[in-house]
Amino acid sequence: MATVQKIRCQVERITDYGGHVYTVDLHPIERLPRFRPGQFLHLALDPYDASTFWPESRVFSIASSPIQRDHLQIAYAVQGRFTARMEQELAVGKRVWVKLPYGQFVIEDARDIVLVAGGTGVTAFTAFIAGLTPGYGNDIHLFYGARNPKLLIYQELVRKRADTIPHFHPRYYVEQSPGSDDLISPDIQVGRLSIATVWENVPAPSQKHFYLSGPPPMLKAFSHDLRERGISPEAIRIDAWE
Ligand SMILES: Cc1cc2nc3c(=O)[nH]c(=O)nc-3n(C[C@H](O)[C@H](O)[C@H](O)COP(=O)(O)OP(=O)(O)OC[C@H]3O[C@@H](n4cnc5c(N)ncnc54)[C@H](O)[C@@H]3O)c2cc1C
Repeated sequence: MATVQKIRCQVERITDYGGHVYTVDLHPIERLPRFRPGQFLHLALDPYDASTFWPESRVFSIASSPIQRDHLQIAYAVQGRFTARMEQELAVGKRVWVKLPYGQFVIEDARDIVLVAGGTGVTAFTAFIAGLTPGYGNDIHLFYGARNPKLLIYQELVRKRADTIPHFHPRYYVEQSPGSDDLISPDIQVGRLSIATVWENVPAPSQKHFYLSGPPPMLKAFSHDLRERGISPEAIRIDAWE
């Protein structure tokens, strides 16, 4: 396992998707340690001095691919005090500190899987999805839900990969009906993601392994519903955001 390293980064780009949801592109000033798709980093806004403690930070899934050695991307939604600070203080050119890699939410290749992503929770899967190749031999069903169509922020990446990878089957869900000026794809369903939806759309769902990532209440409800349907705890992996 790679040793955790503390790295200075410069903010390269911030993209505002509305609804207080952002992606942040970071340029690491020092060499990045190796990491695996599904791992996460700690981000600190205050300067770090190696002679004292690590400053207050929060953790974010690394959305970018480990193949990109000079770039990191995270996505965040404003929730509380720290992410409100991020919204106020992050700007292009600002220096921040990250430490990485952390986490074991790494997808095991050799089986058919169902990925369930709520909102920015999709970032736990984006590096894995970006690394898929056309010869990938197992079925991957992705259920990707967000509040509204604009917040399906990795839709383009997912669609591009689905075009070339026969075993990759994404489905999209939004909670709110699209506004009249929102042009959305006809394959985006309006309605909340649920395990019932997964059961309706995945062949032999009880044979699959499940990876869940998103807000804590969603994860709690989904893992409960999966267990109710007889899925063993070993077949349910959760990127717990608390
Ligand atoms: C594995 C993992 C991956 C995650 N990935 C993402 C992601 O990709 N995108 C995203 O938006 N969110 C992600 N989160 C959630 C994120 O880390 C924040 O917890 C969340 O955004 C809450 O925002 P906040 O800190 O502004 O809220 P706050 O209300 O300020 O704090 C939320 C929680 O942070 C902890 N906390 C509070 N104060 C401190 C402190 N001084 N030092 C350390 N911790 C403290 C407490 O547990 C508190 O309940 C992830 C969480 C985990 C565990």
